[in-house]
Amino acid sequence: MAFSALKILKEGFTGNRGWSPHWRDPVLKKEYDIIIIGAGGHGLATAYYLARNHGITNIAVLEKGWIGSGNIGRNTTIIRSNYMLPGNQPFYELSMKLWEGLEQDFNYNAMVSQRGILNLSHSDAQHDAYARRGNAMHLTKSGAVLLDKSGVQKMCPFLDFDNARFPVKGGIWQPRGGSVRHDAVAWGYARGADSRGVDLIQNCEVTGFQIKNGVCFGVETSRGPIKAKKVGMCVAGSSGVLAGKAGMRLPIESHVLQAFVTEGLKPIIPGVITFGAGHFYVSQSDKGGLVFGGDIDGYNSYAQRGNLPVVEDVVEGGMAIMPMIGRARLLRSWGGIMDMSMDGSPFIDKTHIEGLFFNGGWCYGGFKATPASGYCYAHLLATEKPHPVSERMRLDRFKFGGQFDEKGVGAQPNLH
Ligand SMILES: Cc1cc2nc3c(=O)[nH]c(=O)nc-3n(C[C@H](O)[C@H](O)[C@H](O)COP(=O)(O)OP(=O)(O)OC[C@H]3O[C@@H](n4cnc5c(N)ncnc54)[C@H](O)[C@@H]3O)c2cc1C
Repeated sequence: MAFSALKILKEGFTGNRGWSPHWRDPVLKKEYDIIIIGAGGHGLATAYYLARNHGITNIAVLEKGWIGSGNIGRNTTIIRSNYMLPGNQPFYELSMKLWEGLEQDFNYNAMVSQRGILNLSHSDAQHDAYARRGNAMHLTKSGAVLLDKSGVQKMCPFLDFDNARFPVKGGIWQPRGGSVRHDAVAWGYARGADSRGVDLIQNCEVTGFQIKNGVCFGVETSRGPIKAKKVGMCVAGSSGVLAGKAGMRLPIESHVLQAFVTEGLKPIIPGVITFGAGHFYVSQSDKGGLVFGGDIDGYNSYAQRGNLPVVEDVVEGGMAIMPMIGRARLLRSWGGIMDMSMDGSPFIDKTHIEGLFFNGGWCYGGFKATPASGYCYAHLLATEKPHPVSERMRLDRFKFGGQFDEKGVGAQPNLH
């Protein structure tokens, strides 16, 4: 079933009876070429690109819950490629390019909305640092515009320029940043993978690995053992627990991150705005709700819910730059489990166990990475060689000083 304007018109006139399910409910086979654990955005994208780019379709994606139940359906939907370091910038720029063609590619409306992202600066030193970041972004043609105070004022007159504790000095604007409807991304990749023959198995938890003489040849699941030539972990916040079942200890901690949505308001936020002197980011959904978030809760947890002190902290961040947000009524909030790595950067790598691969450590920035993560992980699984833009995302990088830390705060997940 392909989506087109003609099809929508036809269905509109014929009672919408011609739509079919987006994916099958397949019978679980005893053996696959590749098993991907976790049907979040990254797992589904990996299956999609394995099928589309490498012609490998004898794949199962095993999901303990339902498609979209993890962080892919819980994030604040921000996409951007305003990174600076060599290990990150080309990777996130690849992701941005994939976002830009994604809807045509998988024939699904993911509401990719490139209305721009503005990072506010609040001191001269921060403004200089943004200039440096912008120059690094120009190297990959990511597009960056340095704004002075009046430039920001023109774009966002509602910010507090006069009485703020952290006065706005300017900002860096990436016009290609924006937001994408997160669960549509999961559905689009799921539909694209399924239509190419990939089996998407929901309610199937991986409970262990079949490993002998250092080789992984399958998994144990809540629905019985399944054999595979290659197994790819892709479970975001559950990375530590799952890798522990293969005897691995990862440089990752799990933390909760919350998101918030207000009642629907008239259009006011031009794209995405981030506070440079605290942790607060806000955008506006197509339904009008302000979608915002801030810091992680700051303690290790596997609960998909957060606590009240962080609600206060996040909202204080909002009030510091746009006091008018205090008049909006909060409708909903929720939490997701973040796989916080020790340098704030992710992993796409083989493990020391043959046939077992790892993708994780996305912290709270993995949504924007979804297309490139799937693309590069598929490349690694198919060819056993890292894709050039993800080759620094190694699991062993802390052993030889190869970490790349955009924030420069060291091994402190709560500060990334
Ligand atoms: C509140 C919040 C806001 C965020 N905002 C942004 C943002 O604005 N921009 C951005 O770039 N990123 C953001 N992120 C981060 C981003 O959502 C994640 O980094 C990214 O979604 C993680 O990858 P994923 O989609 O594959 O994860 P998930 O969707 O969590 O997928 C992992 C899947 O693995 C499954 N699983 C776990 N264990 C097992 C098992 N043993 N067997 C089988 N299946 C298993 C889980 O059920 C889950 O479905 C945010 C996250 C949260 C929580």
